Amino acid sequence: MRTHRVAILPGDGIGPEVVDITVRALEAVQEKAGTYKLELVMGEAGVNAIAKYGTNVPPQTVDMLKTTVACLKGPMTTPEKPGAPPSAALTIRKLFDLYANVRPCLSLPNVPSAKPNIDLTIVRENTEGLYSNIEFEVGEGVAVAMRVISRKASERVARFAFKLANQRRKRLSYVHKANILRRTDGIFNQAVLSVSKEFPEVAIDSYYIDNMALQLIKRPETFDVIVTTNLFGDIMSDEAAQLVGGLGVVSGANMGDNYAMFEPVHGSAPKYTRQDKVNPIATIFAGKMLLEYVGEKDSARELERAVLEVLKDGKTLTYDLGGKAKSSEMCEAILEKIRRPNAIT
Ligand code: NAD
Repeated sequence: MRTHRVAILPGDGIGPEVVDITVRALEAVQEKAGTYKLELVMGEAGVNAIAKYGTNVPPQTVDMLKTTVACLKGPMTTPEKPGAPPSAALTIRKLFDLYANVRPCLSLPNVPSAKPNIDLTIVRENTEGLYSNIEFEVGEGVAVAMRVISRKASERVARFAFKLANQRRKRLSYVHKANILRRTDGIFNQAVLSVSKEFPEVAIDSYYIDNMALQLIKRPETFDVIVTTNLFGDIMSDEAAQLVGGLGVVSGANMGDNYAMFEPVHGSAPKYTRQDKVNPIATIFAGKMLLEYVGEKDSARELERAVLEVLKDGKTLTYDLGGKAKSSEMCEAILEKIRRPNAIT
């Protein structure tokens, strides 16, 4: 039987609850398929780890991650004290060179959506741009941040986005501000156009970021894959997440050539810790992306189908979707859909 060794980092606040539900759902689809084994390895990371290890991604966790093919990361509280380590997500991204941030946004049944048929994915360059962390003061009250854009990083994220578009509806929109940022976005745009020659079947179009911010609200259903630089992608990803129902239902992936990290978009929502109240779907969808990544596409579809059926039924919805169900009740409803016979199509 094939085995996939996967790390599980429950995280802080509501993290352990939504991750536990996701693990149960992953185990249920694995059991149903009966053709592979997920070897799940638990690890400590997040603010909770700081008191014990002095850092939020302890060396033991790093060593453990290196023995796995991917990780499911729960939300983690970002340490704020001066001198505190950077966010755990950032550390793991750097450690494994996870250069493409992927945010699928899909309209779901019984979830408020700007339009009924949105199905787009934003691919954001994850390693450079305005988040290169090169910032300095040049005089009293004046500071500069460097926006680093390289052909190499632009081409690899563009290639990732083209491959994705090629598997989907074969449309790629690239987003920039090359009329103002002529050199940096000039390089980004040239990189996209150069990689486009490898994918003649993918149709491309180009948008300024300000126009795309508007078009995403006006006609989100017309977009397939959107690729852009780091800061533009960060902002657009959250805009797009809200179009399809917001924090409780949207997940993301950080992809590299040899490793990937999957997580819900939401944070650790500390005020809801251990209240059995929050929506576990965002984390379950992160688990679905993980299954696709390790090649278990049938199980990924099975997991998605179970969630969509529970949403369609509309009887077991958490507070953020207008319902009164507890997280554990939504979990049971999803598990029940998975366990039903002959659901794999
Ligand atoms: P948050 O996403 O944790 O919560 C904001 C609000 O969104 C919550 O109060 C709640 O009303 C709602 N919400 C979040 N998740 C939900 C869910 N699953 N179901 C229903 N409602 C949900 O954002 P925040 O309060 O700004 O951040 C809390 C902490 O999380 C901070 O330390 C922040 O830095 C961190 N954070 C981490 C990540 C991550 O690990 N990927 C992402 C964002 C924020």
